Amino acid sequence: MEDRKGRRIIMFPLPFPGHLNPMLQLAGIFHRRGFSVIVIHTSFNFPDPSRHPHFTFRTVGDENTLTQSEASGLDLVGLLRELNHRFAEPFRRALAEETAEEESGEAVSCLVSDAIWGFAGEVADEVRVSRMVLRTGGAASFCAFAAFPLLRDKGYLPIQDSRLEEPVTELPPLKVKDLPVIETSKPGELYRIVSDMVKGVKSSSGAIWNTFEDLEGPPLDDLRSQFRDVPIFPIGPFHKHLEDFKPTENQESINAWLDKQEPRSAVYVSFGSLAAISREEFLEIAWGLSNSGQSFVCVIRQGFVRGTEWIEALPRGFVEKLGQKGKFVKWANQHDVLSHRAVGAFWTHCGWNSTLESICEGVPMICTPCFTDQHVNSRYVSDVWRVGVRLERSEMDRWQIEKVIRRVMVESFGYEMRERSLKLKERAEICLGQDGSSSKSLDRLVSHVLSFDSSFAFASERIS
Ligand code: UDP
Repeated sequence: MEDRKGRRIIMFPLPFPGHLNPMLQLAGIFHRRGFSVIVIHTSFNFPDPSRHPHFTFRTVGDENTLTQSEASGLDLVGLLRELNHRFAEPFRRALAEETAEEESGEAVSCLVSDAIWGFAGEVADEVRVSRMVLRTGGAASFCAFAAFPLLRDKGYLPIQDSRLEEPVTELPPLKVKDLPVIETSKPGELYRIVSDMVKGVKSSSGAIWNTFEDLEGPPLDDLRSQFRDVPIFPIGPFHKHLEDFKPTENQESINAWLDKQEPRSAVYVSFGSLAAISREEFLEIAWGLSNSGQSFVCVIRQGFVRGTEWIEALPRGFVEKLGQKGKFVKWANQHDVLSHRAVGAFWTHCGWNSTLESICEGVPMICTPCFTDQHVNSRYVSDVWRVGVRLERSEMDRWQIEKVIRRVMVESFGYEMRERSLKLKERAEICLGQDGSSSKSLDRLVSHVLSFDSSFAFASERIS
């Protein structure tokens, strides 16, 4: 832990695990480097502050919060619109108060906001605080988002079913089906959210990426040439800077089960915190896993299987017959599971955090992307890094599932993939080492943030 710097950083995460986790990890990294951290968080999905005693939490939007039942009636695009709509004003007030407050004697260095918050730039300018963005996805998918105007001009978007397998020559190795879109009744809103995100990065004082040079060198170079005025800081994988960062979900029974499995014999299955599947898809997943003969631990969080509470759609006696061979859980501490010697493969939706966490543990992936950047990540996993295999959602029946699992777990194809996964894991460790690219990037980031206090005052004087 470095000496305290007498500087505060205000962080404003998007309230979903895939965004909140990396923001809190980044907060931990800043704290270790001597900064104080204030987390301004929406009243929707508010995290448990007792798990992060080093940070000061401040809730915004209590008076007009979004309820879980309102949220579940919206698609993701609608949910993002609603969040941006409801929390802009409360955030504006909170940021004004936090930056005006001098009681603690610590100056605010900057705001770090999630790139999806479209209004953060304007609000930061109003209160004259420097703003950096955290992009919680990968660099390659951001390049695809930044290319949306071009993709629309060239007719790739909106996606036509007849062109799914066509290569997008401007964004190799992506095919049309890999473009980071989401099914929505309001595509115009999706384009606006994406365009605001890209503009927000362009107008920021720096962008932080949870990735590393040896993984995404070419897309990072692409970003540097497209966003020349924006310093880019690829300092990931965040969670590996903080070996002591542990979410505290009850993990004991999962660990006890994993401890009883042979090395690399179990498949871990999780589709992250937002994706949802039908009852029919769930039954195919359950039968495919069971028929594969491999042991498995499968996360079925509440709300994941539409129209059900949890796993009650399974036929009577299914779980009993499975016995110790398979385990359904509502949530797992994914870092713990992936780093366990028993895990031989991760069947994932390829959310960026999950992808990175799997890479960091050298675990090969079975990729079933559901929406947005997951499609891009999946293409990179299977075709660029070659540490995973694709299982299309549309082809996800019990026979295909069984076949893919066996291919990855017991055939030579899987063995070769594991070798490559372990090499990529080593590259991540090198980037995080003392002279590694992520460590150097973090040093640059800290100096950059420390330079804000004077430069913003200077810029403000020039404006007035
Ligand atoms: N996660 C977890 N336990 C689970 C499922 C997910 O800890 O049972 C964590 C996972 O480690 C990751 C995050 O939730 O950090 C999911 O983020 P990701 O980007 O993979 O997917 P998203 O939820 O955004 O679709």
